[in-house]
Amino acid sequence: MLIQAPERVIYAPQSEKAEDFISHEAILDTLEYADRLKDERAAVDDILAKAREAKGLSHREASVLLACDDPEKVQEIFDLAFDIKQQFYGNRIVLFAPLYLSNYCINGCLYCPYHRGSDIARKKLTQEEIRAETIALQDMGHKRLAVEAGEDSVNNPIEYILESLDTIYSVKHKNGAIRRVNVNIAATTVENYRRLRDAGIGTYILFQETYDKAGYEHLHPTGPKHDYAYHTEAMDRAMQGGIDDVGLGVLFGLEQYRYEFAGLLMHAEHLEAAFGVGPHTISLPRVKPAHGVDPGSFDGGISDELFAKLAACIRIAVPYTGMIISTREGKSVREKLLRLGVSQISGASRTSVGGYVESPEAGPEEDTRQFEVSDTRTLDEVIRWLIDLNYVPSFCTACYRAGRTGDRFMELCKSKQILNCCHPNALMTLKEYLMDYAGPETYRAGEKLIEKELETIPKDKIRDLVRTNLANIQNGQRDFRL
Ligand code: SF4
Ligand code: SF4
Repeated sequence: MLIQAPERVIYAPQSEKAEDFISHEAILDTLEYADRLKDERAAVDDILAKAREAKGLSHREASVLLACDDPEKVQEIFDLAFDIKQQFYGNRIVLFAPLYLSNYCINGCLYCPYHRGSDIARKKLTQEEIRAETIALQDMGHKRLAVEAGEDSVNNPIEYILESLDTIYSVKHKNGAIRRVNVNIAATTVENYRRLRDAGIGTYILFQETYDKAGYEHLHPTGPKHDYAYHTEAMDRAMQGGIDDVGLGVLFGLEQYRYEFAGLLMHAEHLEAAFGVGPHTISLPRVKPAHGVDPGSFDGGISDELFAKLAACIRIAVPYTGMIISTREGKSVREKLLRLGVSQISGASRTSVGGYVESPEAGPEEDTRQFEVSDTRTLDEVIRWLIDLNYVPSFCTACYRAGRTGDRFMELCKSKQILNCCHPNALMTLKEYLMDYAGPETYRAGEKLIEKELETIPKDKIRDLVRTNLANIQNGQRDFRL
């Protein structure tokens, strides 16, 4: 796909250069195109008809839907997002928790309390403390983590991250185990990505923060992250290093959301064009209050309603990409976004370094946290809430452990075959949770849900296998997966 200005190419998704595949000119052209078409019913209907095929939309097409403010069409967008979510993900929701290793950071990001000039308390976990945090997370029931650390080659070198991953994977407490660790650390070299791959990470996650180069450079005045191209090309290096599941994200609220939306989808198009596999996940964070950070001081504040529309348009544009929402958002926003396409959420998160282990030495949680958490419920409360909403909470990590990553995963996902694994795996991992960690009410509600959901498994053979595995879990065995 090439978009031509009269004289020259302005967008080259297969290019290795950030400024070609996230083309400023092409984004401006797209925004103008969307403004022109958003009130043309026939054009919007054509795009919606294409979207109903559930094969995705280009950044230009999706930008028209995002710009459209005809209430009837907006409702169609929401309904379609819900339909597409059901087709690809059914009613299972995957749970994870962040684990902050260190808040030492040499970057100057204006929206983050960990920036170099901040007077926030600094803390870096020892391996012993990581072990304790991992046990605390296992004791809640978590199986999947996202490891976070600031950029600091002295305090948090890659060797520290690798050692920490080893520690996390090595902890087996009671029936607990962390089976997949996703990693969210600063852009790095191909060699370091290779080392992360060899350490067995799940997804490599890196938020772009903003795709607008001028805004990016303003928001990142100092430190290695100031380099827009190095940051934006990080996923290419991760892929070259053998990590084939990568997670994108924009920090919504920093800059103009329509620009960010087009940039985000261009990034997904670039990964498809250059590597044949789109992003594994897209995260949807919004700027939140934090130590020394006032969200009102940035340009791009967005309402809950607009946030929901963004989520719906992303769901429609990239149906096969998982969408993540964290505890930055409160219960009601999370509930709304679950309907519109979110497939993964964090639960019972602590966004401070060492926040899961409550000991007098650890100090108060707010001392080192990266942002204020809006959803402060326990994991058990979150699980119960999901069950009451008729979702199946899932602790599944099967794909990565079965080698279903990158294009192998995408193929299954695009053909909707992956649902045949997701749903049974959700039921089996929920059963583990109920047996080992649930409160009595959650246990009862979860058992009822599992019985009901078993009947919806279409193939007899799979249903029988799941029944057998559920009985084995009841009898003390663990870790079954398809
Ligand atoms: S956003 Fe990341 S890189 Fe920037 S200051 Fe915070 S921890 Fe450091
Ligand atoms: S089967 Fe794969 S895609 Fe489905 S929930 Fe498990 S890990 Fe995720």
